[in-house]
Amino acid sequence: MNHRKHKQQQNLKKSKKEIYKSYANDPLDTKCPYCGQSEKGCSFINSLSRAWIRGACAKKHNNIRLEPN
Ligand SMILES: [Zn+2]
Repeated sequence: MNHRKHKQQQNLKKSKKEIYKSYANDPLDTKCPYCGQSEKGCSFINSLSRAWIRGACAKKHNNIRLEPN
């Protein structure tokens, strides 16, 4: 069962890396309309989890966008 546990840990690491990579692969000019940052979870929405992060960022900034778009 030791082997199985090790494999689970590897999978966990892999999925974290994939999330990081997905930020780096964002289109270059994308940034969050609320905090203005790029390569963040809220910068570009290509998944449900990132939609959540964007929603949290919007709340944090009282739904005020930096640039009207
Ligand atoms: Zn943001």
